[in-house]
Amino acid sequence: MLGVTDRAISKWENGVCLPDASNMPNLCKILDITINDLFSGEVVDMKDNEKKLEKNLLEMTRIKEQRDKELLVMEIFIGVIVAIILLACIFAASFISMPNWLRITLIIIGIIPFAIGISYAIRIEQIAGYYECKNCHYKYVPTYKSVLFAMHINRTRKMKCPKCNKKTWQKKVILK
Ligand SMILES: [Zn+2]
Repeated sequence: MLGVTDRAISKWENGVCLPDASNMPNLCKILDITINDLFSGEVVDMKDNEKKLEKNLLEMTRIKEQRDKELLVMEIFIGVIVAIILLACIFAASFISMPNWLRITLIIIGIIPFAIGISYAIRIEQIAGYYECKNCHYKYVPTYKSVLFAMHINRTRKMKCPKCNKKTWQKKVILK
């Protein structure tokens, strides 16, 4: 009914991984349970509901925190790899004797993973954790465009806060 493989379902049942978040509402509808029941692994009694909900929310926050940290490490890794590929291609095209068309091809081969890698890295920079406004301390996830065009020093970016509208240097934080 969800259009997923039996292998995927087996993984959920064995606790190897969780269903994709976009599948969760449909899954709950099919099984006639709440999202809270799904996370608790049992049908939750109404009086325990609030306690369990709180625990599940904490658990989800912890999972997001962990994932965000991993993403930020992966971002550095991607950046280094694509930079090495680009430099190697430029180096080879500059110093090894070859026909000109091959030099140009080689540089293009270096630029393509660089462009893809950097746009992916900026996407991670956007969605992992939050940016904190220096003025009002509001924490938020900015748009891709504002992250892409903002001046930055390492992970601190000069952006406009959506709450107080002041343009400040905003630090990347993991916790909300
Ligand atoms: Zn602000």
